[in-house]
Amino acid sequence: DLVKDEDLSILEDLGAGNGGTVTKVWNKKRGCVMARKLILVDAKPSVRKQILRELQIMNDCSSPYIVEYYGCFSVDVHVGIALELMDAGSLDHIYRHNGPVPIDIVGKVAEAVLHGLLYLYDVHRIIHRDIKPSNILANTQGQIKICDFGVSGELINSIANTFVGTSTYMSPERIQGAPYTIKSDVWSLGISLIELALGRFPFSDSPEADPEEDDEEEEEYDPDPTLPLNTQRPKLDALKHERRKSKGVSLGGGGHTMSILDLLQHIVNEPAPRLVSKRKTFPSEAVTFVENCLYKDPAERKSPQELLASDWIVKSKVTQEDLRAWALSLSSVNKENK
Ligand code: ATP
Ligand code: MG
Repeated sequence: DLVKDEDLSILEDLGAGNGGTVTKVWNKKRGCVMARKLILVDAKPSVRKQILRELQIMNDCSSPYIVEYYGCFSVDVHVGIALELMDAGSLDHIYRHNGPVPIDIVGKVAEAVLHGLLYLYDVHRIIHRDIKPSNILANTQGQIKICDFGVSGELINSIANTFVGTSTYMSPERIQGAPYTIKSDVWSLGISLIELALGRFPFSDSPEADPEEDDEEEEEYDPDPTLPLNTQRPKLDALKHERRKSKGVSLGGGGHTMSILDLLQHIVNEPAPRLVSKRKTFPSEAVTFVENCLYKDPAERKSPQELLASDWIVKSKVTQEDLRAWALSLSSVNKENK
């Protein structure tokens, strides 16, 4: 049976985004841990009911590459969603606490995300729309899964300003107003893979910037009242990156801060980023794979099926046991077990 809020008791905070907060909870009824996401939804009861109905689609989603759904409910001004707890956390937390993700592991992340995207699209005709490292999660069984896909149109509408706005992982065609396709998700995957491999967000105004020379000041978020809210969202996303950079362990980036509109313009007008670093040489199969994700023309960009058939994925020797060992070796995971 579906989980209700009264079954859950709070254990600890797992993180917060622009649209919600996620808490580790104990399910008293089932005797297991879960993740509970609370999303602030400013909507009347009828719309709220519609959202809860639409979220039930997640109940039919069953794949080893999709974070499992256990139920949803109203909690005063919030909509709550009970999800499978991914005990190694999101890939953005992982690289921020442990440094760049080893390139062979990044390959398995790519494979899992592609399987997840194909499952959602082929079985449910759902386009994810929000692929980024914080929506890719790992566990200590050595599994990698995606979450936070756009199932409820009503939910997207009710929180459009802060939740599914423009983001810096958006493809050039989306920035220019083209509709979402599965190829837009492929672009976001390409950007995410570079971010994991480099340990920093790939866009900056000085592409060859040296992480060690990073000494920029933290900026305050100051919403511009002249901009519509959904153009302020990318500002939040970009600012989160800037914040994380200035706090991060082995992170770096540009010496200067690019404004969000400059950044969106940059994505549209400049060549796509590539998987290159002054410090490391990446395998050519990985470089080619990422290149194939980041063709600016969606017609040239490879499809998930084509990408799954590429050398980097097919020739990978990484097993689930290796992924398990990697997840267990993360200091961010070990800390919790001590
Ligand atoms: P944004 O709101 O910009 O999309 P986000 O994805 O980080 O950012 P949330 O989706 O609210 O925001 O998630 C907040 C954090 O909670 C994530 O970064 C992740 O680390 C953690 N988290 C989310 N779901 C789970 C889960 N099922 N298991 C473990 N941790 C999770
Ligand atoms: Mg998320």
